[in-house]
Amino acid sequence: MNRQTIAILGATGSIGTQALDLVRRHPDRFSAVCLTAGSSAEKLFALAREFRPLAAGLVEEPREIPEDLRFCQWFFGPDCSARALEAVRPDAALCAITGIAGLDAVWTALDACERVLLANKEALVTGGSLVTEKAKRLGVPLLPVDSEHSAIFQCLQAARGNPVRSLILTASGGALRDWPKEAIERAGVDEVLRHPTWNMGRKITVDCASMVNKGLEIIEAHHLFGMPAEKIRAVIHPQSVIHSMVEFEDGAVLAQLGNPDMRGPIGYAMSYPERLNYDAKPLDFAAIGSLTFAEPDLDRFPALGCAMEALKAGPWATVVLNGANEAAVAAFLDGRVPFGAIPRLIRDALDAVPPRPIRTVADVYQADSEARARAGEMIRRL
Ligand code: NAD
Ligand code: MG
Repeated sequence: MNRQTIAILGATGSIGTQALDLVRRHPDRFSAVCLTAGSSAEKLFALAREFRPLAAGLVEEPREIPEDLRFCQWFFGPDCSARALEAVRPDAALCAITGIAGLDAVWTALDACERVLLANKEALVTGGSLVTEKAKRLGVPLLPVDSEHSAIFQCLQAARGNPVRSLILTASGGALRDWPKEAIERAGVDEVLRHPTWNMGRKITVDCASMVNKGLEIIEAHHLFGMPAEKIRAVIHPQSVIHSMVEFEDGAVLAQLGNPDMRGPIGYAMSYPERLNYDAKPLDFAAIGSLTFAEPDLDRFPALGCAMEALKAGPWATVVLNGANEAAVAAFLDGRVPFGAIPRLIRDALDAVPPRPIRTVADVYQADSEARARAGEMIRRL
């Protein structure tokens, strides 16, 4: 494979830094030509010194750009990722911004790049078929980075045109998996952020604890693989060794396994159809001993049920679900609401924001802002 130019959007985050670890290991194969981040200027400066991109961006404009970093073109503001992509037009863009804040970058990446590597699941949960149809129309592959979707994508390589009966997404169960309902209601920020198997950004770690993350992933799988809601299900698998599975019509189930290390799925998206060596630790089956499974408990984790209902209700509902969740998670992390309020705020917004058709990205932002406004109002009242 030729040396690929790649943009890493959300470069200072958990996914972004792991992707850059892969770039660092394979300088002959990848050149990180565009790096963007939200507010962590010092971290981005250090990355820019190391990777020497053509363009860089920060949502929050720093007081000044250090003298030695003026070799690259700088962009500031909420649209810095989109503008940097348009300036550089790299071969690939890894979209690893958190939340609907990343939708605009995914949208632009489809115009500016040959391949879009998608970690930012909220862009699909909100942009939905607008995003997948645009990718199809432009012939731009949308390659999954989320570990479950990468696993399914890998298993589907063996489908060879055979119909799929169902997609089975595994879930670690998050930090509160075995907690009783009353304790979940009052779980503290530190407890919620203590994920048992994955080390990730704060927002997704909270989403894992409420299990909204698995709901967002079911919606993501629906859009990525064109599967109806009733053919996608989640199963609790605490060891996080099976990353997800595909069931075929003859009852055969293919699974993709590995140690929980996001560099596997990130690398697969970066070098697809080849596999990227990153000195992954071999899977030690004897040390693992057993792989276990359980049904998700929708009574203790009602946000997962809300997400499944939203997928069936239609695109406006998944936008509202996401907007209310983003507002609720931010409020929880700031200590403004208890953990147990998250599913209630989601449910309330789904009931309160009136349904409407989602035909354009502007419609997405409109439904999102109504959901946030509603959740904000309820948070102030709590
Ligand atoms: P994170 O919080 O660690 O990193 C987010 C990055 O985005 C940071 O670099 C931040 O500065 C940057 N950022 C935030 N807003 C921005 C904006 N408007 N413009 C440009 N940059 C912005 O989050 P993460 O854990 O790396 O997750 C990123 C995305 O990947 C999320 O959508 C998450 O759901 C998804 N994902 C993450 C993991 C994981 O293991 N961390 C796994 C699967 C999926
Ligand atoms: Mg995942």
